[in-house]
Amino acid sequence: MQLDRRAVLGLGGVGLAAVVLGTGTSGAEARYPFQLSDAEWRRRLSPEAYRILRKAGTERPGSSSLDHERRRGTFVCAGCGNPLFSSADKFDSGTGWPSFTRALPRRAVTRPDRSIPVMPRTECLCARCGGHLGHVFDDGPRPTGHRWCINGVALRFTPAQG
Ligand code: FE
Repeated sequence: MQLDRRAVLGLGGVGLAAVVLGTGTSGAEARYPFQLSDAEWRRRLSPEAYRILRKAGTERPGSSSLDHERRRGTFVCAGCGNPLFSSADKFDSGTGWPSFTRALPRRAVTRPDRSIPVMPRTECLCARCGGHLGHVFDDGPRPTGHRWCINGVALRFTPAQG
């Protein structure tokens, strides 16, 4: 996998899965180990999950029950099942979106998002299927100072055993 470390500017890379997909190369999808055709994704996902995960949509804040999930467990990618976030890193951001101080190591990737020119952001994606998860901001709490602002529909929760 090709690394593009320029893209972690502004995030410090501390605690982030600092593997960033390069841009400007065709066939970016090909870098993800889990791949489905667009038709297969449409079949596999709900219309809302498809809009978020495959088209970089954003769910209405407060619309996901996972925002209030308090149990111990793991949040996995709703697209491919990749374990992405631990309940230990979840916090109540008050934004209406499930929020975490970090992703599980190497499970998510980030890249610059300039879709809103006046507000450059950092997008985060599932490292396995490339599904859009949300964005990472620098205004989070300790210990990382990062706020991974995640669409709940991009996640499924697996409670811890025992
Ligand atoms: Fe995934």
